[in-house]
Amino acid sequence: MADNHTMEQRSANMRAVLGRDTAPEVLIRSILHRLGYRFRLHRRDLPGTPDIVLPSRRAVIFVNGCFWHGHGCRRGGLPTTNSEFWQQKISNNRERDRRVQKELRKEGWRVLIVWQCKTKDEAKLLKTLSNFLERGGAATA
Ligand SMILES: [Zn+2]
Repeated sequence: MADNHTMEQRSANMRAVLGRDTAPEVLIRSILHRLGYRFRLHRRDLPGTPDIVLPSRRAVIFVNGCFWHGHGCRRGGLPTTNSEFWQQKISNNRERDRRVQKELRKEGWRVLIVWQCKTKDEAKLLKTLSNFLERGGAATA
């Protein structure tokens, strides 16, 4: 049962990395709509092509899959097969995440990372998003 769940989760992660419109991303967009924010998607002219960009708040949001970005949660665990390969791949991703966030902050953007595992509780997610976005218009975070 537990193994099955992991397998399912992994193939969901695989799909997520291929397709852009993942369920957590769609949920976040709909919350932002409800809050009345305007945003752009996947702006390639910004470092890391942020998933969601809110120009008026000078803010970007990344929706990170726990597996691919090496979150320390239950879903972030490495597969037991080929673990060296995955370890390298995910540590490269993390390195890239850090670099991208640094570049964005340097350009005056505020950055919010939303982990996939934190998108289950919609009320909490809404609070996280509105706190982040209402926390001043200045890019000083
Ligand atoms: Zn997670």
